[in-house]
Amino acid sequence: MSEELLINVTPNETRVALVENGVLQEVQIERQRSSSIVGNVYRGKVNRVLPGMQAAFVDIGLDRAGFLHASDIPQLDGEGMELIDDAELDIHTRVHEGKTLLVQVVKAPMGTKGARLTTHLSLSSRYLVYMPNNSHIGVSQRIESEEERQRLRDIVTDICSNDEQVSSGGYIVRTIAEGASRDELLSDMLFLQKLWIDRTADLTEKKVPSLVYRDMSLALRSLRDMSHPNLEKIRIDSRETYEKIIEFTNRYSPELSNRVFLYQGQRPLFDLYSVEDEIEKALHKRVDLKSGGYLIIEQTEAMTTVDVNTGTYVGTRKLEETIFKTNLEAASSLARQLRLRNLGGIIIVDFIDMVEPEHRRQVQRTFEKALEKDRARTSLTAVSDLGLIEMTRKRIRESLGQSLCEPCPHCQGRGQLKSAETICLEIFREITRESRQFECEKILVLASQPVIDRLLDEESDNVAELETFIGHPIQLQVELLYGQEQYDIIPA
Ligand SMILES: [Zn+2]
Repeated sequence: MSEELLINVTPNETRVALVENGVLQEVQIERQRSSSIVGNVYRGKVNRVLPGMQAAFVDIGLDRAGFLHASDIPQLDGEGMELIDDAELDIHTRVHEGKTLLVQVVKAPMGTKGARLTTHLSLSSRYLVYMPNNSHIGVSQRIESEEERQRLRDIVTDICSNDEQVSSGGYIVRTIAEGASRDELLSDMLFLQKLWIDRTADLTEKKVPSLVYRDMSLALRSLRDMSHPNLEKIRIDSRETYEKIIEFTNRYSPELSNRVFLYQGQRPLFDLYSVEDEIEKALHKRVDLKSGGYLIIEQTEAMTTVDVNTGTYVGTRKLEETIFKTNLEAASSLARQLRLRNLGGIIIVDFIDMVEPEHRRQVQRTFEKALEKDRARTSLTAVSDLGLIEMTRKRIRESLGQSLCEPCPHCQGRGQLKSAETICLEIFREITRESRQFECEKILVLASQPVIDRLLDEESDNVAELETFIGHPIQLQVELLYGQEQYDIIPA
């Protein structure tokens, strides 16, 4: 299988597309990256110590000082390593006003609150989280197999105590490392160590406060997280980013350097492999299948539901066969859509009912097989008698729809508008209410064109009756900028 990474860079956003055998599989988009400072490490200075709150304010160079609680400040030994047995919790034994220290942002500043900080520093790579100040080795709880967890822990422990290239520090093995080889883990450890040494080499010469480390840009992160031997080509359409990437790969993964290319073609980069079109399509609910069937994918706050439908009706004799084929195609197509749309949480898939148990099993197997390529972890139940599969998919980022869209202002995201008739009836109720509350000579109604049209036509008798009832004339006026559900009743 051949894979290609396309990196499209403009001043406002960076977009990364992963294409497998000419078919778009994943998209990541990052806008205004300056807005997120979570994960940044600063060399800061303690402004104030608050003994009552067991906390300190630390100047990290932002508008507001960051907040650091005593429980987020482990004691360090003479070599700068965290002491594990550390029952005493007194802020004064840890920091004092004017003290310079390294802190990492765990929560972004919000409103009038400054950033929440910790001195437990950590940096992530594809498979590992590196903690330069302690020597703890752990494995993500989300790797369920005890055997696999032990294997990973053994590898990392062994590398830490026997490999001369690796110096001190602690590691947590991330969920994505399930199945990773010793070489892969070792190369991540070396990468993290190098990165940390690079960032902290001239620390004491830096002014206080200053930024010491920030998580990599999307372009570099995608190289870190997506690069593996199948990745044949990485194309970037910005010279500046291309040069940064080359600098990065030369330093941290030289084997990738000869696969990185600056794209200077006439066509926009995302027109290759119809990436732009595929992104557009991935925002729609309906996905057409070659067999004539289609999927309807709907994302709600609680879950995502997927409905599989056959296309045109084809006689009863062949019906079971058609349904089986449509479900098979739906299974592969859906696995790709889940990745592309980056849907997470609970997903309920309603395949078309199949009579044959063997057909059900085959659809399930096809779906499982197709999900294997997904880097996000998925788990699913067997196809139930009703043809439903319940599954979960773990993901960190928001979905493609969430990152590119906002709820429709006309329907508040319901996908439907109240009919003009419903709005007319609401207006009548509102006029009755207002006329009781306010002294007025007439009532002015501002509403959208379709609603005013209806008031003047189908509802004209009701309007006349209401005028008699309230004893005042009702004046109607179109407000061109109003959506169908918008109106105003003004006693005048
Ligand atoms: Zn709408």
